[in-house]
This record gives sequence, structure tokens and C-alpha cells, in this order.
Amino acid sequence: MKRIQATVTGRVQGVGFRPTVARYAADFGLAGQVSNTPLGVVIEVEGPTAKIESFLDRLQSAPPPQARIEKIAVDEVAAVGRKGFAIVASSRSGDLVAGMPPDLATCADCLREINDPDNRRYRYPFTNCTNCGPRFTIIERLPYDRPVTSMKIFEMCPECSREYHAPTDRRYDAQPNACRVCGPSVKFVDARGNALPGEPIAEAARLIRSSAIVAVKGLGGYHLCCDATNDATVRLLRERKNRPHKSLAVMFASLDEAQRYCVLDEIERKFLTDVARPIVIAKLRKGCGLSALISPDTKDVGAFLPYTPLHHLLLAETEPLVMTSGNLADEPIAKDETELRRILGRIADYALIHDRPIVRRCDDSVMKMVDGKPLHIRRSRGLVPDHVEMPLDGLPVLACGAELKNTFCVTRGRQAFASQHIGDLSDYIAYKFFTESVADLTKLLEVEPRAVAHDLHPDYLATRYALESPIATKIAVQHHHAHIASCIVENRLDGKVVGVALDGSGYGTDGTIWGGEFLVADLADVRRAAHFRQYPLPGGDEATRNPVRIALSYLLADMPEADEATIKKLLPGLEREEFAVLRRMIETGMRSPMSSSAGRLFDAVSALLGLCDRITYEGQAAIRLQERATAQTEETYEYTIEQAAEPAIVSFAPMIRRIAEEKLNGADTATIARKFHNTVAAAVAETCAFIGEAEGLDAMALSGGVFQNDLLLRLIENNLRNRGMRVYTHTTLPPNDACVALGQAAVAVARLRNN
Ligand code: ZN
Ligand code: ZN
Ligand code: FE
Repeated sequence: MKRIQATVTGRVQGVGFRPTVARYAADFGLAGQVSNTPLGVVIEVEGPTAKIESFLDRLQSAPPPQARIEKIAVDEVAAVGRKGFAIVASSRSGDLVAGMPPDLATCADCLREINDPDNRRYRYPFTNCTNCGPRFTIIERLPYDRPVTSMKIFEMCPECSREYHAPTDRRYDAQPNACRVCGPSVKFVDARGNALPGEPIAEAARLIRSSAIVAVKGLGGYHLCCDATNDATVRLLRERKNRPHKSLAVMFASLDEAQRYCVLDEIERKFLTDVARPIVIAKLRKGCGLSALISPDTKDVGAFLPYTPLHHLLLAETEPLVMTSGNLADEPIAKDETELRRILGRIADYALIHDRPIVRRCDDSVMKMVDGKPLHIRRSRGLVPDHVEMPLDGLPVLACGAELKNTFCVTRGRQAFASQHIGDLSDYIAYKFFTESVADLTKLLEVEPRAVAHDLHPDYLATRYALESPIATKIAVQHHHAHIASCIVENRLDGKVVGVALDGSGYGTDGTIWGGEFLVADLADVRRAAHFRQYPLPGGDEATRNPVRIALSYLLADMPEADEATIKKLLPGLEREEFAVLRRMIETGMRSPMSSSAGRLFDAVSALLGLCDRITYEGQAAIRLQERATAQTEETYEYTIEQAAEPAIVSFAPMIRRIAEEKLNGADTATIARKFHNTVAAAVAETCAFIGEAEGLDAMALSGGVFQNDLLLRLIENNLRNRGMRVYTHTTLPPNDACVALGQAAVAVARLRNN
């Protein structure tokens, strides 16, 4: 006889862990108890050694479906000789967020119930159990328990209560447990908010089939939904949302249905059906029947599957649905009735609503599969609040992140919690969402940050927030250093790397705009070893919205002999007046900051090829350029690397010239676009090679929004591997500015350590 105490850490709370433990203990005839504690789930079992070992093996190999065990620490304790096995009530003290799961998609058992006319939950849209249902978006406080969730306003009926209290039931301790008798209910309302007669979900489906746009309340906010096979409705949605081109996500009723519209490989199917239910960017089948207006700039579609019973019931009665964030332009996703009022009547004709409040706003996560691995584009619902393990322990830090695609990050010990997608902080509502979320997450984690990390850009609202914060210790982190630091942490790298940060823009230590950067970096230190050649950006951000102006700047620099007529021929979209004004700005340097941005290089070439003069969403010019690069060629253009002094300068001037000449000669743009990608990849690899050689480093870390371009990413990875280098890309966070906060946090922790 022996008694052990096992402490299990990882995602072990809110996923039916304790009943599983109790069942396994019973299977092996072991006595003891299990409880939730701030340290994790603590199990004590007593019995013959062999049985205890079998029990631990079983737990290890067959944990509850949604649990993720990180570690089981086992200690021997004194035997007590008592019989039976007890589930001890939740500990009321301490911070349990480490074990808190994200929102979980409806499980197969619950789905079966809502489709079974004989089940008491037949067609009940809020069905859930310990293996599925809302978590992160309904929790007000921890430890996770019903009275501190938005389910507190619903009192369980006797039947639900019985399930909730029976350790052998699938709904044992399932906090959002509910049924038609006692739980939340749906309502279908018109543009003025008046409830309409009929069965709400069936009515919503009927009106969607006849071309209506309906706001649907989901887990983390409202979606705007309409028939994805109906051109007229999709066009109307785009007009009302003022979103002419950016692709719209489409929800399919099932994996089978998704496969009728998209070409899906095994890994894409795996992630589409993952419990996180992200949007997976997949290839559309030609002539599949989806509206061509879903993604006018690409042949892809952001596909996802239902993740709540409400979605399942709705999609069962409709064609595939456009499901896009319910918001105006760049605002955060609407989450409550007040915010719904801003879109209802303006964008949505009707709304399918319900009375379970959303505590925490959370957009859908977005990813794309590249070489069998997910490339995250947006990490939010279903993935937050899973933490990232940091290499160093340290004081708690708040990192405020960047301006666009903002996320922030809070550390506690070695755990770093990256927030859900916040959005573009220049929007007032997004900024409010940011400040509220910072307060919310620090409260949830019960940490008081002792240092605040921020970007160098003085005008980022996140920077100002940090500088005005009462936290005395402030740590400024250069934007691209943060990018690379995030990649280092996610890959658990030790020591220095060559970091390649290719992105739109980030404030440099010299006051210019950086974005095509080669850094020799570890977490604490960074050196700029090389960068892309700088060009003036006439009008700054205004230029970014007008790629044709960037193309002009590149042409004036790289093809100085070109006269106005030649430039007009190359850039027909440039207005006459624009040309004169911009040229003067560039020549005098007035309001024309210098930038080494890789994103702007893509913009310039895209405009030069006539693919995109003005953008309607961030990254559009680069997306069209990648989409055009269909020619099969390995040719490259000429480029130069000036290594005389540090930082070295990587110049694509010869390429810009050559592209302009080819364009004037009417060359095929598909070939030019592909050769351009090849050239950037070759130049990046060669630059990495010489820096790596000089520094004795063979680890290359890639980050920055430009790496959302999977063609470029693959080419660079191949080039680097062919040169014998180890290549690291983001594993957990997106390469875009959503990773900046984690990187800032890691740098801050490392620097605090060194002091
Ligand atoms: Zn379930
Ligand atoms: Zn009930
Ligand atoms: Fe960036």
C-alpha cells in the first residue's frame, strides 16, 4: 500500500478533469481525492504500487478530450488507510487562469443531442457539457464557477442541477449547463429591435435564404451573416459595411459541405475541425457556387465550421454563410445590445439575439496552413487565454503592443498571456477596448505588473498609455526587436539569432521608419546589422494608403532619367497634380519620412505592375502581387548588398529599374511578380548568410507582417535551408504586429533580469 500526491498542470480546469480522475481511480480500485488548486489539479491516490502506476499511465495517455496536460509531478505521502474516492469542491482562493481553457466548440455528444427529437435538448441552441461550450467569453472572475460567469442569472432546473452534481455525468460541474426550461433563449428581431413571431432560428434561416443580412450573436460578439452564394446580398453587405475588397469569412454547415466548396488537405481538415474552430484560409474550388465577391483579390476563402449549437442549427437550414465581424469599418466586434444598435438597421436587417451576456469580446481566430503547419493571422477565440512559456522567470510585466492589430501581453512567472485580438488602436472604441481589457486580464490573472513595456513610436496610443501608466518602471523596446524576440520565445531558442523582420513599419532607434531589418539579437540585446535601402514616403501614412505614390518615390530614386511622360506611362493611376506635389515633397524631404520598409517595397512593385494604386484594406497591394505571381520561374533580378559599413544596405534599385523597363516593354506581369518574389528571397538569404558567417550564427528567426505572404515565406525558408541554416518562424502567434506585445514582454523580463 502506498499513497501518492500528483499535481497536474496545464489546461486541466473547466474540461471535466476531476470526474475523469474519479472514474479512473474507481477502475483501478484506488482510494483518495481530487481537487482544483491554484497550482493545478491535485490528486491523491492510495493503493498497490502497480495499480497507482497503471492509473497514472491511463491519465497520461487518455486525459479528458479537451485537457492538455503539461506536467504531472508525483510525490509520495503517508498512507491514510481510508476507503473511497472524493471530489473536493473548488478551492476558493488563488488564481486558476493558468488552467482555464478557451471557448470550446460544440462536441459530438452535444451535437447528437440537439439533433435527436427524443432528447430534452432537441434544437436547444445553448447545449454544452464539460467537453464543450463557452469559457473565456463568459467568465467574470476566477476560480471558474457558475456564480462568476454570465450564466449566474439563470437558475438551473432540477434536471440540469442533477446532471451538474452527478460526478459520473458528462455535465458534472459544467458551469454553463442549461436547457430550454432554465437556460438562455434566442429571439429574432427586426431592424427596430422588435421580436418577430415564429421559431427564431428557423425564421432567421428563412430570411437569410431570401437575401436578408442578419446579425447573429455568437460567443465573442455579433457576426453579420448572409447567403454566401448570393452575389446581390454579398454586394449589399460590402456596401453597407464599407468594405469593398477585403475577403469575407464563410461558415460551412459541416466538413463535408466545406469540401464541396474548398480544396482541403488533411492538415486543413484537422484544423477546421479542431475544438478551437479557427477560420482556415483555403483554396476555393473553381465554379463551386460561392459568390465571386467573397474574396475578389484572391482565389482563397476563409472557411470555418459551426462552433455553437446556434450555428449548427442555423447552418442546417441555409446555404454557406458569410460570417464577418459585426462592426462598422475598423471598430472592434460588437458584443452587447448597445453596440448591436449601431449595426442593426444600418448594416443588418434583422438580428438573432439571445440573453446570455458576452463578458469578453473575442473575434474569430484566423490561420493558414503552410507546409503542414499553421501560420497564424489572428489569434483570438478558441486559442486565448492559452499561455506561452517564457524562458525566464521574472517580475510580472505588462507589454502594451503596437498600434495595428494590437494585442497586449501580461506575464506571470514564466507564463506569458497574450490577449485576444484588440484591433486598430487609432479607433476610439478599440482603444477603450484595449484599456478595459488590460484591466480585465490583470485582474483575472491577479497580477500587478511591476514594469510596463512599450514601443518606441511616440504616437502609438499603446505607447502613450504605457508612458502615462502609474507603473514606474518603463521599458522601451524597438518594434522589430520585439518581433524577433517573440519568435525566439515561441521557439524556445537560446542565445543569439539573426532576426529577419520584414513588415510595414516600425519606429527605429534613429527616428526613421524601419521595416526591412536584419538584426543580430537575443532577448536583451539587439544590433541592426543590415536593412533594406531607404526611400522617402511622401505624406507618411497617406503614402501607405496610396501605393501608386510609393511607386513614384521608388521610380524617382531608381530611374532618375525617367521623364514625366514615362512615369505617367508606368503609373497611369497617378493624378497629374499628385505627381507635381509629391515630387516636390520628395525632393525637399517635406513630410517625407525615410523608410526601409519591406511592405512598402511590395506596395511599390504592386502599383508599378498596375495591380493596386490605392488600397481599401491593409496589405491589399501585397496580396494582389502575391496572387499575380503564378508564373513558374526561378529567375531573379539583380540586387546589391553594400557591406562596407554596418548596417549593410540591401538595395533592390537594379530590380526596380528592370521591372519598370519590362513593364514599358509589355512583359508578362505574372512572370515579373514571381521573379520579384524570387529576388527578395535570394537577397534576404544572401544577407542572412553573410551576417551569419560574420557572427558565427546559423539560427535565423523570421518575423513581420510580410511573412503572411506564404509564397515569400516558403522561398526564403528554402533558400536559407539550402545554405545550411536553421530557420525559425512563429509557432503560436502571428508574424504581424499581434506578436509585438509578447516580444516586448520577453525583452522586458530579460532586461530586468540583467539589471
Ligand atoms: Zn458537449
Ligand atoms: Zn435546465
Ligand atoms: Fe511590425
